Amino acid sequence: MSVKNLDDLKLLIVIPAIRKARGFFDRIVMKATLWKPITAYQIASLSKRCKIKIIDENYEKIKYSSNFDLVAISAFTATALRAYEIADEFMKRGVKVVLGGYHPSALPLEAKQHADAVVIGNAESIWNKVLENAAKDDLKPFYFSPPLKSIASPAARKGFMVGIEATRGCPYRCKFCSISNSHIGCNYVKKPIDRVIEEIKMAGKYFIFYDSSLTIDMKYTKELFRQLMHLNKKFACFGNINMLAADEELLRMVSEAGCVAWAVGMETFSEDALTEAGKKNDLRKYKKAVSLVKDYGMNVIASLVFGFDNDDASVFSNTLERLYELGVDSIGVNILTPFPGTPLFEKLNNEHRILTYDWEKYDLYHVVYMPKRMSPWELLDGTKWIAEKFFSYRNIFDKFFKKSGIISKFSLLYHMIGSRLVYSEAFETALKNIKMNFQYELQLD
Ligand code: SF4
Repeated sequence: MSVKNLDDLKLLIVIPAIRKARGFFDRIVMKATLWKPITAYQIASLSKRCKIKIIDENYEKIKYSSNFDLVAISAFTATALRAYEIADEFMKRGVKVVLGGYHPSALPLEAKQHADAVVIGNAESIWNKVLENAAKDDLKPFYFSPPLKSIASPAARKGFMVGIEATRGCPYRCKFCSISNSHIGCNYVKKPIDRVIEEIKMAGKYFIFYDSSLTIDMKYTKELFRQLMHLNKKFACFGNINMLAADEELLRMVSEAGCVAWAVGMETFSEDALTEAGKKNDLRKYKKAVSLVKDYGMNVIASLVFGFDNDDASVFSNTLERLYELGVDSIGVNILTPFPGTPLFEKLNNEHRILTYDWEKYDLYHVVYMPKRMSPWELLDGTKWIAEKFFSYRNIFDKFFKKSGIISKFSLLYHMIGSRLVYSEAFETALKNIKMNFQYELQLD
């Protein structure tokens, strides 16, 4: 590549598909259920001077060509292998490739085998340098991003429900968390509220806060919600259960600001498992938090993790009972997954309990390590069972008819039907894979 002016640099930004979105029909399902990633649009806004094309493979097929000067690919662990395939295809055609995102940041040496350059950490602080070097055909192998000071606003996006990022990172460092244990999310950074409000004004009526938690800096969050009150928007967000139980003023404000649902990381109902995870949830506050959120007309979506060393096969029925007791509106179910870069990965790797390094299976629906108090089969089957029970048509329609408020009713229906669809496909695939894997079968029999 000859030396170019940045204005002439042809940049392709790619979001690799998660496995199930590579066929035509899968892409239609993904369109209905997947939240669009924001990263590609942030990279685009940092690359304003270049000629940019974005391909999100979850929705659109990639056409390989040598018509680009640089291809930027962002990946997390489950999409890393696909990212490498795409990178290899472009490199074969003589196009320079840069990889970034959670997985390349955790394992830069691995990523470098498929790219000319790897960005470690947040792109914002280093991206201009990458582009300048690419234009001069002088890419460095690694770009280590200094601590993030300012979160990029995304380029203009279309879509029914876009993601908004007000803050990035989380200081709590739960041992399984790939966000707070990464170079990307280890620092907590806030975007100025006026910029967040501008982005929200440009979004449609419905949006989702992608922030891993909006309850870290309550002063910031309350001011954000205060300014949101007049915009007539509807949104969902993530928060910490202890904070929701403790701050009724926040709940009043967020409800008036248009919040429809809170997603909370309950993770488990076991004190020992919480300690094991390094998570500081107060189990005594779960009931109060759920009732308060519901009293203010919002839905509670509990995120759950199965497979802690303290979990045995009784965890599934016990958890389901607790969910019904609490009156949680919907759930997210996840199999404990040791993402590279986390203390959990280190621990399980040191204990020789990792069953596979096939990153495509690190999707929260496969069992990729040897659990302590149940077999991999029991863990997968139990997680599938709880999803089937909770998202049975009977439970979905029961909850729908009991719910008051038209927006809460339909957003709950959307979440539950979407989850039913996604989980049934995901766990079926995981079951097929587990049966096909000889090593697994040996352990299961
Ligand atoms: S609170 Fe949530 S985002 Fe923060 S470290 Fe724990 S799991 Fe990660």
